Amino acid sequence: MDNGLILLIEDEVQMVRFLRITLKGHGYRLIEAVAAAEGLIQAATRNPDVILLDLGLPDLDGIEVISQVRGYSDVSIIVISAREQEQDKIRALDSGADDYLTKPFSANELLARIRVAFRHKMLAQSTQKQQVFVFGDIRIDLSTREVYLNDTEVHLTPIEYNLLAVLVKNAGKVITHSQLLREVWGAVYANQTQYLRVYMAQLRRKLETDPARPNFLINEPGIGYRLKINE
Ligand code: CA
Repeated sequence: MDNGLILLIEDEVQMVRFLRITLKGHGYRLIEAVAAAEGLIQAATRNPDVILLDLGLPDLDGIEVISQVRGYSDVSIIVISAREQEQDKIRALDSGADDYLTKPFSANELLARIRVAFRHKMLAQSTQKQQVFVFGDIRIDLSTREVYLNDTEVHLTPIEYNLLAVLVKNAGKVITHSQLLREVWGAVYANQTQYLRVYMAQLRRKLETDPARPNFLINEPGIGYRLKINE
């Protein structure tokens, strides 16, 4: 069984042991690095499918690792960190991380995020030619800008559509408030998170069966939103 190659950059012995058992037990090949410098070399030379990255490394801040890797690669990066501060999560995501897990987390939670990362990678590779995306009862055609719910066309305003399109193109990934605001409204609106609340509520009313308990347009409190994809 070979589910793919994962690079783990983590200095805590207990954590490394837990991840090694979990990942190898589920068919992943693993490269281990206990510091940023070694991790960066492995990232550049071994072409991993996913990088699991601790932010608190002995030689360099994990955020710096993300920035350096993003300089040449769009490999999925999942941050695994003890830092619970929203600001750290936002910095990691804005620097180019795909996802964030706060320690302690369960093996199942980790494996689910990794499956999403692999799916996201496949989606990203096919997104050039793929124009139609299906999420449950929702179908989005990026070539015609049409959105359907149960085969009935849903009318979206241009802003609602643009917001949805950014989430679709990054399906599975957490997109921070400021990333969404920059993409949809422009850089000068990067702090206007109330716009997002209003337009996300409208999108949910139009697309979700139960807008109060959305299945797809998921809120990441204090951080941003993600379009949930099946694992
Ligand atoms: Ca650490």
